[in-house]
Amino acid sequence: MEQIVNKQREFFNTNATKDIYFRKKQLRKLKKLLKENEELLNKAIYKDFKKSSFCNYTSELSILYGDIDEALKNVKKWSKHKKVRTNLLNIPAKSYIIPEPLGVSLVIGAWNYPYQLSFAPAIAAITAGNTVVLKPSELPINTSNLIAKLINENFNPEFFKVVEGGVQETKELLDQNFDKVFFTGSGYVGKIVYQAAAKHLTPVTLELGGKSPAFFTEKCDLKIGVKRMIWAKFLNAGQTCVAPDYILVHKAIKEDFLKAVKDEIKNSHFAFENDNYVQIINESNMHRLIAMLDANKVYLGGNYDIKERYFEPTILTDVSFNDKIMQDEIFGPILPVIEYDDIDEIIKNVKSRQKPLALYVFTKESKIKRKILNEISFGGGAINDAIMHLTNTNLGFGGVGASGMGNYHGENGFRAFSHYKSILDKSTLIEPNLKHHPRTDKKLRLIKMILGQK
Ligand code: NAD
Repeated sequence: MEQIVNKQREFFNTNATKDIYFRKKQLRKLKKLLKENEELLNKAIYKDFKKSSFCNYTSELSILYGDIDEALKNVKKWSKHKKVRTNLLNIPAKSYIIPEPLGVSLVIGAWNYPYQLSFAPAIAAITAGNTVVLKPSELPINTSNLIAKLINENFNPEFFKVVEGGVQETKELLDQNFDKVFFTGSGYVGKIVYQAAAKHLTPVTLELGGKSPAFFTEKCDLKIGVKRMIWAKFLNAGQTCVAPDYILVHKAIKEDFLKAVKDEIKNSHFAFENDNYVQIINESNMHRLIAMLDANKVYLGGNYDIKERYFEPTILTDVSFNDKIMQDEIFGPILPVIEYDDIDEIIKNVKSRQKPLALYVFTKESKIKRKILNEISFGGGAINDAIMHLTNTNLGFGGVGASGMGNYHGENGFRAFSHYKSILDKSTLIEPNLKHHPRTDKKLRLIKMILGQK
């Protein structure tokens, strides 16, 4: 590990990655590599958890192609020196900010979107001019092997290298002195990563998870809202960091809401063979989900097959904040429904818990929408939709508090891997004697006047 990092640092210090043309060339090469190997990428992810080619394209590859295209279009603009106004004390001078790459970066991926969560941060790192060591999640072993094979056979390891492995290898990597660590995963491991990075004072971006609520208020478009929410919840069998984790539904519409949910699940025909459902990633996650299930509260679904790693879309009703299902992020196809009557009370309850990664409000009531947006802190979200906010790269994506720090996608990704170096570029035409010896009262009065602090 040490050698990989040392070699990358040597390469970084040649300044090769500072060249915009070099960055563009690497991005084009990555896109070509992914495009040419789409079939292999599809096969590997299907083998891992039966993710279909349709879903692999729409929720992984298309996002990466989009990120690369946007980076190619904007990298020159994002890398430009940014002029800022010079203050009176320094005139005549120019003031500007130089975006510079941080250096050798480490990207640690999560398993649920194994291509997207490995390559999207890597694309941001390359665009900003960094070298990259990528550690994909070891759980989807076929995708991890393929990512390693494709990158390590086609890229100079001094620039872009994939290291495979689990806890031990990640720990060894984290012992190295990186210039940036970008981590996607659980809050538990996020803390380990943050502590390891602190030893080297390495800046981190932590893309974590949490329990993301979805409100359905008394006046909302139930039909469209439920359709969008059910799609978002059961995409990837609920194994999505921004999936609605639980529902807060107004008492007056609860029965209609549950009926609409039942109809929508029936109409969606969630099944492996319909290309719209995936396996739970492994048996230990099956057992984790089974342990969360309260048979007395199952409104719909609740069946599973451990050997097949199949878990039916499941709705729980009459749930309270004290229930087991409400203690940890679900990260699977179980959706608890909590009824509320008083919006202030329910907001108070949400606020008493850790800040969620996402929050959704299905409503036609602008007053309630404004109230929720104003009063609850969360990473990001959507009104009358769920998950789709991620597809707009003009909106940075990231958490707050326990759901993470920093954000990425689009220019935000470039920023995550850059340092903005501030420069005062001074003329030598004049040097007023104000700050120099002798220090007089008259000079002090003048300084105060210039500073506007008389
Ligand atoms: P995880 O934290 O178990 O693993 C993430 C990565 O950390 C893996 O590469 C793994 O090898 C490594 N790792 C695991 N244990 C480690 C340890 N003890 N020391 C060092 N490294 C270790 O997370 P996961 O199960 O892959 O993903 C699920 C979590 O990730 C959920 O909480 C989910 O919400 C979150 N997530 C967040 C985002 C986001 O963009 N914010 C995206 C996907 C998933």
